[in-house]
Amino acid sequence: MSALTDISLKDALEGLKSKRFSATEITQAHIAAIEAARPLNAYVAETPDQALAMAAAADARIAKGEAGPLEGAPLGIKDLFCTEGVRSAACSKILEGFKPTYESTVTSNLWRDGAVMLGKLNMDEFAMGSSNETSFCGPVINPWRSRDSNQKLTPGGSSGGSAASVAANLALGATATDTGGSIRQPAAFTGTVGIKPTYGRCSRWGIIAFASSLDQAGPIARTVEDAAILLKSMSGHDPKDSTSLPAEVPDFPSFVGKSVKGLRIGVPKEYRVDGMPAEIETLWSQGIAWLKDAGCEIVEVSLPHTKYALPAYYIIAPAEASSNLARYDGMRYGLREADGQSLDDVYKQTRAAGFGDEVKRRILIGTYVLSAGYYDAYYLKALKVRRRIADDFTQAFEKVDALLTPTAPSAAFGLGENSADPLAMYLNDIFTVTVNLAGLPGMSLPGGVDANGLPLGLQLIGRALDEGTLFSLGGALEKAAAFRSRPERWW
Ligand code: GLN
Repeated sequence: MSALTDISLKDALEGLKSKRFSATEITQAHIAAIEAARPLNAYVAETPDQALAMAAAADARIAKGEAGPLEGAPLGIKDLFCTEGVRSAACSKILEGFKPTYESTVTSNLWRDGAVMLGKLNMDEFAMGSSNETSFCGPVINPWRSRDSNQKLTPGGSSGGSAASVAANLALGATATDTGGSIRQPAAFTGTVGIKPTYGRCSRWGIIAFASSLDQAGPIARTVEDAAILLKSMSGHDPKDSTSLPAEVPDFPSFVGKSVKGLRIGVPKEYRVDGMPAEIETLWSQGIAWLKDAGCEIVEVSLPHTKYALPAYYIIAPAEASSNLARYDGMRYGLREADGQSLDDVYKQTRAAGFGDEVKRRILIGTYVLSAGYYDAYYLKALKVRRRIADDFTQAFEKVDALLTPTAPSAAFGLGENSADPLAMYLNDIFTVTVNLAGLPGMSLPGGVDANGLPLGLQLIGRALDEGTLFSLGGALEKAAAFRSRPERWW
């Protein structure tokens, strides 16, 4: 594919500014790449006409010397973000045909800064999943394949389309969301960089809700610096989201390349879980060595409540989901199955036909843990565990500036491999959910490949509102890892 799709966002922005190529040209190159990559099923809606109109407007602003920080950069948008007049369905049957009359704050911020929308990206239904297999639009295929195998692999989830599009050069960057790992795990499975910022850094307004106290938006990109550029545009206080933080947005890109000498890095001993592949252990040790070489001090820390994180997450997230998804009743949005006799029949038939199995499972679990008699035993207890987990981090951050862990307990697995066993699927999130429960920033970046040539991710966890330190550390690790592998094109 054209070289214009194979450059970093940073280089693209420089090329656009210096008029080496136009926004129209780089957009056209991406439109062609997307058309040629349909077997990956990364995009669920392509919006070439809109993209070219946005690119023409970007070219006009560049000509007038009024370029914004993302002027002319073609991006993909996860189907969870409401985009005015364009399909926004969270890859659920119940929202098929829904075209919002408004734009999410995060995407508005990107368009304000000059970015171009290429289309909407595939994802697990309502962002519930770790493999993109719960999507009503079918799974995304990871552009990466094991050496000597044609087996189709998952790009991870729920932001599988975002990660695959960035890895396969179908966008310079993509928006994603992370409730329990959905930015970081797909980034790890596709050799890309993803950051979930501090809870409240990005506005949730106009993002279809899954579990409101955990949901955060963030970017997936090909380099740490690209992720910093995107996060800077996406972030900011928004009066329309009462949980958005009234905090200044730092100049994130300026942290990339800063020295990390003297920073103290915690290695949590509880993250050495049974059954973790030796290659992930090795990568983790390698990451520790790289940071040591860069002048960091490595400190072993303890996060004693880690083992309760997954059970607490899989109570709190479904509880909030069962409440958030109550609005899909056939009356206000999308699907309506209206051949019932009564209003109740319409509700039941619409919800039975509109939600997939995993979403129904979450609604059932959530309703159960919130019901009278079980609320104290499950939901309230999970909230107490959540507090303990957050306290573990607070104590660790008295001793260290950031933590280094693996992102996921395995490399990308085969489609269908874990889909029959929800618990096996949920185990994917073992290293990521703690960060959401505590509201902290977490970044995944590629550290190397396994014996099959598949990418593996390292995770950095920071103090609240300290994404800057993660960008500095991420930059140092990226330099040391010199990860240059790319998926070989087979589609
Ligand atoms: N895999 C987790 C889940 O299924 C996380 C999903 C997410 O972060 N949106 O809930």
